[in-house]
Amino acid sequence: MSYFLDLDRTIFDTESFVLYVQKHRLSMESYARSEFGLIWNNHVVAGTLRFAPGELERFLYLDAKDFIRQHARRCVIVTQSNPALQKAKIESALTNFEIPYLISPIPEQRGRFLRGHLQAYKPPHLYVDDSSTNLASVASSVGDMPLYEIRRDGSKGSGLYPTITDLAQLPEIR
Ligand SMILES: [Mg+2]
Repeated sequence: MSYFLDLDRTIFDTESFVLYVQKHRLSMESYARSEFGLIWNNHVVAGTLRFAPGELERFLYLDAKDFIRQHARRCVIVTQSNPALQKAKIESALTNFEIPYLISPIPEQRGRFLRGHLQAYKPPHLYVDDSSTNLASVASSVGDMPLYEIRRDGSKGSGLYPTITDLAQLPEIR
């Protein structure tokens, strides 16, 4: 089976990562929160923002690290937007885990993007994300895949999907 795992706020503590970059790398810059992704992506492309191998592993949630270690050959990371930044984050955070990843260039079409890649991975498939927009997109494009909403922020969740707070709560699907 294959577990498709969203990156930001599903396996990766994005808020802590943002604070870390602001504190240690780009502290002199000021811009709106909504602009971070694009600006930092441009810095990665330009070579002015870099992460050492393993440097960002500290931002993997502990349960995510355990889960990925336990199911290494069955996990696929899925993310989108700012591809250079996302690639840099994944490669530094997951240096010690050989996990394939997929980066969708178009944020609004997570489901359609994922559908085009599913056949490369062993069924059955299961998908986990914190974003209700992404979950709705995947639900409409890949109707028969079990979807799980993960909440790292303590909120209740949308109520549309089974909700988990820890990847260890995922079932084994055979
Ligand atoms: Mg996310």
